[in-house]
Amino acid sequence: MEDCIFCKIVKGEVPCKKIYEDEETLAFLDISPVAKGHTLVVPKKHVVTLVDIDEETLKKVIVVVKKLTIAANKYSEGVTVGQNNNRASGQVVDHVHFHIIPRTEGDGLDPWPRVHYVEGEAGKIAEEIKSLL
Ligand code: AMP
Ligand code: ZN
Repeated sequence: MEDCIFCKIVKGEVPCKKIYEDEETLAFLDISPVAKGHTLVVPKKHVVTLVDIDEETLKKVIVVVKKLTIAANKYSEGVTVGQNNNRASGQVVDHVHFHIIPRTEGDGLDPWPRVHYVEGEAGKIAEEIKSLL
């Protein structure tokens, strides 16, 4: 896709600090890392969100996500794997990508703010989600 920054990185038109590459997948350092070593894993094929990716490609990408997670675990105390879908979630780049974020105890990156269910609400929401599968 012409205007997509990650497609440009895949094509070599924009530089990146490449970590891993195979026929379907590319992994490179995030330019604005949450932590040192923060890596992005993308399919080479342009797809916008996780909803759009075909399962064969997704399987290949997730294996690379695992590979990067194993590596990150060797130089950090833990790893967060993240994936944003659509603007409300914080997706800025419209080419599906997984964040591999090395973590250290007390790095201040968590926790997410939590909400609470009122009586009966969790059951209703669980049913609603199940009906959408
Ligand atoms: P998201 O908010 O999930 O869409 O994440 C997009 C990520 O892409 C952000 O963490 C950015 O720092 C990163 N990013 C944007 N442009 C580049 C680039 N040229 N090279 C590497 N990472 C980038
Ligand atoms: Zn793209």
